[in-house]
Amino acid sequence: MMLIKTVQELQNALAAARSNGQTVGLVPTMGALHEGHLSLIKRARKENDICVISIFVNPTQFNNAEDLEKYPRTLDADLALVKDYVDFVFAPTAEEVYRVPATEKYDFGPVEQVMEGPARPGHFNGVGIIVKRLFDWVQPTRAYFGEKDFQQVAVIKTLVRQCNLNLEIVPCPIVREESGLALSSRNKRLTPEERAKATNIYRILKASTQLNTTDVAEIQKFVADEIAKIDIFKLEYYEIVDSETLQPIRNLNDSDSVVGCITVWANNVRLIDNIRYK
Ligand code: AMP
Repeated sequence: MMLIKTVQELQNALAAARSNGQTVGLVPTMGALHEGHLSLIKRARKENDICVISIFVNPTQFNNAEDLEKYPRTLDADLALVKDYVDFVFAPTAEEVYRVPATEKYDFGPVEQVMEGPARPGHFNGVGIIVKRLFDWVQPTRAYFGEKDFQQVAVIKTLVRQCNLNLEIVPCPIVREESGLALSSRNKRLTPEERAKATNIYRILKASTQLNTTDVAEIQKFVADEIAKIDIFKLEYYEIVDSETLQPIRNLNDSDSVVGCITVWANNVRLIDNIRYK
């Protein structure tokens, strides 16, 4: 494993490593790595000759200064966790990434106009900026993204289409604790009591797939009512959407592939999760 801080070093190292046409798998992360990240990294390792991960808490995708400031940063532990699986860890400073100022403006269309789009203005533009720069620098054969951030996967696929990029986006399933809680770097900010209560999110989502109705408004009401019963929770949204277009549907029968996406505040920590209906 080689730790790399600059774009120039990264490009030199990759040019040497892939001189014989080796494939490159890229896993972009913001660090505070856990088994969810590791599942993407192991898959990238298995499916490619060279495995590159990036660790960078990207300021341009944070619409909330406190969230950016409190985001956990644990580089030493991250390196220890991934050292047996990755060839290159790219962990640049913000100065390095934004040597060229972040003036790019992306328009991802309908997939960014729902859910996290309006809830976090500028977020997906920031994601687009960093991911496109990483793609340009690494030139990966494949890039791996978790379905934990379901909308992000749709946005990145749109980016690849719009920019005509020659790489494969590989979506990877959500990794959960035994309790059902989706692993997330932000879980580190929960107190033990908050963490125990946070397991209700997945319990409620799962229960909502077992209701005897296909009416989306009824399912949404069930989820909202159940979330309201947990004292530390505040529901930001629960949307049931077509998994390709991310547009809301009114009835589960309106689409062949349906996912429910939730954002809940557990006191002052923002948690997201999602579940398949079909
Ligand atoms: P982040 O460091 O939160 O930006 O996440 C980096 C990548 O890991 C993203 O593609 C996430 O969707 C993915 N990821 C984060 N948590 C999980 C999880 N619990 N299961 C699967 N993928 C995850």
